[in-house]
Amino acid sequence: MRKRILLVTLLVSVLGIVLLSVLFSDVFYRQSIEAVNGQLQIYMDVYAAERQDAPLDGAGAEAFAAELRGVRVTFLSADGAVLGDSEADASAMENHASREEVAEALASGEGFAVRDSATLGYDSVYYCRAFEREGQTYLVRLATQADSGIAIFVDALPTVLLLLAVDILVCLLVAWLATSFILRPVEKLTRAAASSGGKEVHTSYPELQPLAKMMNDMNAEIGAQLARIREDRSIEKLVLNSMEHGIVIFRSDEDVLLINRTARYLLGYEKNEPIACFTEDAEIAAVLAAGEPAALARRIGEREYSFRFTFEKPANVLLITDMTDIMAAARSKNDFIANVTHEMNTPLTSIRGFAELIGAGAIPPEKLAGVADTIIRQSDRLSRLIRSIINFSAIDSDDLPDYEVDLTEVVRELAGNFEPSLRQKGISFTLEAEEGVKVLSRRERLVEILNNLISNGIRYNKEGGSLAVRLAGGASPVLSVSDTGIGISKENQSRIFDRFYTVDKSHNGGGGGFGLGLATVKKLCRRAGWKLSVESEEGVGTTFTIEFCPKKQ
Ligand code: ADP
Repeated sequence: MRKRILLVTLLVSVLGIVLLSVLFSDVFYRQSIEAVNGQLQIYMDVYAAERQDAPLDGAGAEAFAAELRGVRVTFLSADGAVLGDSEADASAMENHASREEVAEALASGEGFAVRDSATLGYDSVYYCRAFEREGQTYLVRLATQADSGIAIFVDALPTVLLLLAVDILVCLLVAWLATSFILRPVEKLTRAAASSGGKEVHTSYPELQPLAKMMNDMNAEIGAQLARIREDRSIEKLVLNSMEHGIVIFRSDEDVLLINRTARYLLGYEKNEPIACFTEDAEIAAVLAAGEPAALARRIGEREYSFRFTFEKPANVLLITDMTDIMAAARSKNDFIANVTHEMNTPLTSIRGFAELIGAGAIPPEKLAGVADTIIRQSDRLSRLIRSIINFSAIDSDDLPDYEVDLTEVVRELAGNFEPSLRQKGISFTLEAEEGVKVLSRRERLVEILNNLISNGIRYNKEGGSLAVRLAGGASPVLSVSDTGIGISKENQSRIFDRFYTVDKSHNGGGGGFGLGLATVKKLCRRAGWKLSVESEEGVGTTFTIEFCPKKQ
């Protein structure tokens, strides 16, 4: 900017000086011609007054010229012929009728002309006047030389150059002062804005107020945008770090762009350790070298993970997923199928075996009734098993709405159904139920739970034992089913809720259950958010308790 201001001032002033000097030279030149003309007229007046009688030949011209010191004198006849000249031989001179000053003088009495001279730097100035002598008109022409315009300019050139030098210095000074006056406050304002750290900047110059306001507005806008970006980044970080999956975004194994908390933990990095190279694992290194999408299975501690690599532009991604639950679910599904197959196989084998024996006539007629009874019992068992499996699986897809069920009423009604089996085993039964205990559920679910707990209380009871069902109301009603049966060992207490788990495997073939009853109870309680617990002592008895905690809205 300083340079530009300097250049413009220089250009303008140099042009000004040159133009002015040309203009002044011209004015001066005109004035000097004017002055010479005036001088020649005075000389001509002298001639008119004193020398009209002098001879009109070369000698007369020379004599008059000598008086006028250097002025050329020419006498001409009315037709333009040269009669005498102070500097040349008149007879050798051409007719002057066509010369401007001569023609003018002949026409109007006097004439004036300026012509380039043969001498460089000078112009010839002519003044011609007509006179009368003895009735004859003749002309007298006076000529002298004046400085030409160029000569005047050349004369003035050293002064002009000196002026130019002074001008350049003055321009430098003016440009420096001007730029300092203009730029210093702007520079000050810019520095203040740069070091303001987002605070408002102020200026005492009214001309710069709009600039300061604009800077403040821009600063505020940038500040707001930065805050938004920071907030976005911290949200992104929060999302990434709170993900249960591990994520690593990288360009190469030595150029990790992003790694979240889970990935850091799983890859064994300390919290704030810089990640130079995200893994030294040889298998992972091989996948990175191949650059092809791949998945690796990894066990870290107790859990199983899948390391999935995708190679994309502009960055590659490693997604670490905890597969423990998925794998456990897959295993559990396989176990379930194996258990179902096994449970079905036992009655089917028995039915088929007896059917073959009957077909081969190997059963004596007196035993046929007993065999038929066995076939019927095994078929019943098979259909009970199928019903239990359907019941158990149906819980997952049961989305029917809940309603208020009078649990006291359900307990009373069911207890009656168990009277024959209680009597059969000589078990004394007590029911202590508060009136009108209501639970938000569905009747069939509560019946399923009660059936399982009460039938277990009878099945695993001793002959002549006792069974008590208690129901207390309140905000969270509590149901307990206690028996004085065989009890469950500590070790088995955690497993009895697993599917197909039975403590005494010898039950399976006969009238025992399939190990689906408590699993069904647990599943129903878990879906409803109720607390199910067991307390038991081997040989003493068992109590199952359900706390019907109301569902959180
Ligand atoms: P099951 O159909 O075999 O009874 P459950 O799931 O109802 O299946 O019970 C699982 C196992 O828990 C039973 O095989 C039994 O060993 C044990 N069990 C359940 N209830 C009792 C109880 N009241 N007393 C002792 N053992 C019990």
